[in-house]
Order: sequence, then C-alpha cells, then structure tokens
Amino acid sequence: MGLALIAGMVWLTGTWFDLRAPVIEMQPEVKLLGPKQTFTLRLSDDNSGLSQVTVWLQQEGNRKEVLAQTFPGRRWGRGGQNRQAEIPLILEPKAWGFQEGPATLTAEVRDFSLMGWFRGNRAELVRSLTIDLTPLRLTFTSINEFLNQGGTGLVTYQVNKPMAKTGLVVNGVFFPGYPVKGEEPGRYLAFFAVPYDLPQPLTLELLALDLGGTEVRHRLFYRLKPKKWKNDILTIGDDFLQRKMAEFQEMNPQLKGVTDPLAVFLHINQEERMKNDRIIQEVCQSSQGEPLWQGPFLRLPNSKPMAGFADHRTYKYHGREVDKQVHLGQDLASLERAEVPAGNTGVVVFTGPLGIYGQSVIIDHGWGLFSLYSHLSEIKVEPNQKIHRGDILGRTGATGMAGGDHLHFAVMIHGHFVNPVEWWDPHWLKDQVYRQFANVGLPVPTTKAAPAAAPEAVKAPAKKKKRP
Ligand SMILES: [Zn+2]
Repeated sequence: MGLALIAGMVWLTGTWFDLRAPVIEMQPEVKLLGPKQTFTLRLSDDNSGLSQVTVWLQQEGNRKEVLAQTFPGRRWGRGGQNRQAEIPLILEPKAWGFQEGPATLTAEVRDFSLMGWFRGNRAELVRSLTIDLTPLRLTFTSINEFLNQGGTGLVTYQVNKPMAKTGLVVNGVFFPGYPVKGEEPGRYLAFFAVPYDLPQPLTLELLALDLGGTEVRHRLFYRLKPKKWKNDILTIGDDFLQRKMAEFQEMNPQLKGVTDPLAVFLHINQEERMKNDRIIQEVCQSSQGEPLWQGPFLRLPNSKPMAGFADHRTYKYHGREVDKQVHLGQDLASLERAEVPAGNTGVVVFTGPLGIYGQSVIIDHGWGLFSLYSHLSEIKVEPNQKIHRGDILGRTGATGMAGGDHLHFAVMIHGHFVNPVEWWDPHWLKDQVYRQFANVGLPVPTTKAAPAAAPEAVKAPAKKKKRP
C-alpha cells in the first residue's frame, strides 16, 4: 500500500516535472521549396504529452504562420491526452507573396510539463530552405523510331533544373536517366529494356523529380514491333542429370541429402535461377555515368548461334513435361575452351560462380548497359578491371546449367535482359541509338564494321541478314 503510494507519487512528478523535451520530425527532408509543397510534421512527447505547436515560414520581414494548434489539456496526474501527433503542412510560398531565395521554416513545440516556468519543455526545429518558384519543365526529345519487343529502347529529354531522381518508368520498372555533358545543360538520356513478355498495355513514362520534391511525369507514345519467340523442347537425360548432380548439389547445401536427381534439377532450374537473376539485378544496379562502349559488340569469333534470346523452353524428362523457362541470352558454340573476348569496352563488375550460369563474368559498359558471359571453364579477369573491346575474359566451358561447351552471352539494361542481337548490329546502332545521340548534342561515332573480327560476320545468324 505504502509502496504503491510512493510509486504513484514518483509517476505523478514524472509527468508533472517531465524533463524531456518533445521530439519533432519533418518529412520530406528537402532543401528546395516549390510554389506549393506538402510536409508531414511528426511530434511526440512520451511523458507529459503535447500541449501546443506553432509552425511559421520566414523570409526577411515576411512571416507567415502555417500552423498554430493546442492539444487537449492535462488530466489529473496523467499529462496531456496526446503523446503523438502527425500533422500535414501545406506550404504555398507563391500564394503568400514570398520571393525566390532563402527562407526558414520553424516548428516550435511544447509539452505539459511544469518545467520552463510552467510553460512546458520546448523543442524547436529550424529548416533552411530555398524558395524556388520556377515551374519544373520536362521536355521529351526523342525515342526509337520503333521499339522491338524484347529489345533495347533509348529515350532523350531535357529538364530545366537539377534533379533528385529522373528516368523512364516502363510498366513500373524504373530505368535511370543519365545527364549528357554538353553545352546545353539539362539534357538526359535513358536506355531501357522493352519487356520480351509484353504486358498490355506497355506504358512508358518519363519521370523528373526536382530537389524540392516536385514530380512531373510525361507519358510517351511509341511504335512497337512485336516478335514471335521460338518454342523449344529440351529433353533432360539421365546421363546429364548424373553428370551434373554433384555440381548442382554444390550450388545449394540443402540439396546435398536429396537423392531424386529430377528434384535437384528442378530446384536449380527454378529457385536457383530466380536467385541468380536477383544477384544479376543487384550487380547491375549502379553503372558508370559515361558510355565506355563504342560501336557494335563483338560476337564470339567463329561461332555458331545455338539457342536464341527469349526461346520458350519446355523441359521433358522420360517423355513427361516437367518445367518451362525462358532463355534470356544467346548461346554461341565454337571450339571447346575457345577464348572469349569482351563484347565491348567497360569495367568488370562480377566474376565467379553464378548458379545456373556457371562461371561467369559481368561487364559494366556505362549508362546502364551490361554484358554477361556464362558457362566459362576459365576466367582471366578480376572485378574492377578495366577491359577493352576484344580483351580475353576467359574460355568457354560447360559449367552451370550447360550440357556442352558453349558461351551464353547476355545483354542487360540495369539487370533487365534484352535481345543481344541488336547490340551486334551496326545498322540498328546507327538508326536507333546514334541518331538519337545527335538530339542531345553527343558526337555520333562512325559505325565501322567490327575491326579484326571479320570471322564473326561469316556465320552471322540468318535473322540478321533480313535487317534493312
Ligand atoms: Zn544459354
């Protein structure tokens, strides 16, 4: 009884003479303030509760009260009724007659403590802002004459302010825009992946978010060439499974006790494949801010095209359909352990085992463009190494999900697979890429045929010849 009384007294004085000041947070944490902007003010005071809050915007002699609010009062021994509050603030500096330039936004909060000569503990948050009343302008410049399903797209545009975030949103997937260095500031370009499995409809939206938090979106129109992908049947033999069992079980320790070879195969072909693609996406998140590549990509010399991009594969085991997957690269077969040249200039960002892809190398070519070389038997480069077009990365092999010695070559835009065939094609490069470079004031490289790699042209796939 006596103890409870003492505990009660301590608790009472705890809220009455609370020593801790309220906590103030304001989101978003921007430095620029546009013509009209919304903030969220979060207040909390765990002990005696919130009593009042005032917020004002000030620029020299001009002071505008944005918010003045009092909270319901102290209940006997229990402090105020509100321990927390979330209040939206709408700031309209333009309507309030503020000028462009520096200003301060101040929030002052008090609690129900009897401290501070009975006026409560006080907390203050002062945010220095720059008022920027120039409207954000996003101007579309160009897009490919036509987009190929599963191919690479390029868009160029211009903005009139520094950007917090900008790029192209393709059905919810964001592809960052890169600023182009030139006489005219604010010019950007963004490469993007046109999905191989076209959603209906395909929406392309330019996005610009300035430092003040103002966002502008611009819906783009485009012409699209649909593509029919090949259907392929892959028969899984027992000899293949036996040969690969140990390697597959090595990829995932959970598979070590599994005796059914088909179960091991399916796990690798499904879960492991998804895991590998997530790693590729992570590796390809950030890219060099300048183009390191030049001209068309090199193909594996003297090689025959095998499986193609977006082949829809049905896997059969003992005549029974057991799985379906889409092949997102181009398979090229040459001699066993053939030397693999880098398709273009760039920086090595990944080397080593990569599940179904086996021993692999990933190169960043800048501006979001990456290439992948898989199933290698040997790797001769290291991460962060600068690579020139044609430098030898390693040798072909059959590591990972490969039945025989070949190279799996893939091209990605920020980790999203695109048809590599376009990047081998000087005509596509000239018409769909370089033509747009001119729009943003970039020098247009002369498209020379691949130097010293003439053999690659000998066995170019029949599909390529049909191109105009
Ligand atoms: Zn392949």
